[in-house]
Amino acid sequence: MELFCFDDDVGPGLPLWMPNGTVLIEELEKLAKETEFAAGYDRVRTPHLARENMYLTSGHLPYYAESMFPPMELYAEGDKQLSVDRSERDITESDKSLRDSFEKMIPELKAGIRDPQEFVRAFKKLPPELQNGLVDNVALVRLFASLKWAEVNEPERYYLKAMNCPHHHKIFGAVPRSYRDLPLRLAEYGTCYRYEQSGELFGLMRVRSMQMNDAHIYCTEEQFEAEFNAVNEMYLKYFKIFGIDKYLMRFSTHDPAKLGQKFVDQPELWKKTEEMVRNVLVKSGINFVEVPNEAAFYGPKIDVQVWSAIGREFTIATNQVDFAVPSRFGLVYKDRDNTEKTPLCIHRAPLGTHERFIGFLIEHYAGNFPLWLSPVQVRVLPLGDEEPLVEYARGIQAELRAAGIRAEIDATNNNIKGKVLQAEQAKVHTMLVVGNRDLEAGNVSVRIHGQGNLGAKPRAEVIADIIQSAKERRA
Ligand SMILES: [Zn+2]
Repeated sequence: MELFCFDDDVGPGLPLWMPNGTVLIEELEKLAKETEFAAGYDRVRTPHLARENMYLTSGHLPYYAESMFPPMELYAEGDKQLSVDRSERDITESDKSLRDSFEKMIPELKAGIRDPQEFVRAFKKLPPELQNGLVDNVALVRLFASLKWAEVNEPERYYLKAMNCPHHHKIFGAVPRSYRDLPLRLAEYGTCYRYEQSGELFGLMRVRSMQMNDAHIYCTEEQFEAEFNAVNEMYLKYFKIFGIDKYLMRFSTHDPAKLGQKFVDQPELWKKTEEMVRNVLVKSGINFVEVPNEAAFYGPKIDVQVWSAIGREFTIATNQVDFAVPSRFGLVYKDRDNTEKTPLCIHRAPLGTHERFIGFLIEHYAGNFPLWLSPVQVRVLPLGDEEPLVEYARGIQAELRAAGIRAEIDATNNNIKGKVLQAEQAKVHTMLVVGNRDLEAGNVSVRIHGQGNLGAKPRAEVIADIIQSAKERRA
């Protein structure tokens, strides 16, 4: 269906969305934006990268470092990169060759090592293949003396964002907040970049760039249950629209034995938030299982698993509670009693990422998308190429397009069998066949992909029904 492609020059795991795929993306975004607007979300837009410091604050560095792309290092103008002094000094030939191989290691050995001992320590931490079999500390110290570290400042490091949260936290913190501002719900279809091992890349299911149906809800403890419940309701609403009958919420909790390592060391907050999430799940009667030791480092989370129409399981979305990071960012609001309090944060992404969700939808619908999602919703097929008939067909197309329906016309001189075949192969949702008899009666003959011929009906009625079906996002 020409939805997306990959290209070696762009890079593995970086999908390019073609026009048909972009239709799907924009329909999903339209759905998300309408739904979120109605639920009181505000939209924001943030850049795709940020300084290292932000991820140190958020804790993504070091907790999440291996999933992030390596940093871009920026030197201020006039700064020099670290280099080896190539001027000849009083060193032996063997030291010279060591020095040559050593140059390759320099990127690994950050700037600023000026003390021989520090140098030896840093050297020993290099991967063995870079150590070149050099184990003798005396030789290492001699080598160090033969090097001249150019005067440079530390470069500034920027990272592609692996998550949108830190950027949103900065927006929360950009102006003073009071309890009257809460809950504050910041939404963005944000593009994130994650460094998946190339062996783990898999079609749309595992990629390195992803557009996420993201939002962060900042709320008080008292507001938490209602907010969390509203998020779950939103999931259920989406499941209904997409005809997802089978789903499961995996509620991941912490392991007290791993506090301070895998999980932030705040036992009371873990207990409290896990209890709150459990309450919401039980009260709302949602289908869930509890899984210990799989929470995010900053709080309990829910992974949403859904089953496609042919019964395959997909993890499409997560829902996380965060009681740790807002305080690391110094986020506060002024409460009724004039004291400053830290909000809770709910991370939620009901439609997951476009990449994964569309991967799921392709299988779920076996490529036969409902009208509202179909890249080509309607194609008008005139039975001949006489001017009045083509004119009639163009009028129908124009009326549909004016109402926002993706309608085409097949004005080629193929016979009708050929036109229908082509439209069926392209998975066009609705075919409107028009002949002279239809023209005279003001009718169109409706044919639905996969359902066949539904017969002739009044043009106005058919057009109104198509517009209504798309608007209602009928299955
Ligand atoms: Zn987040």
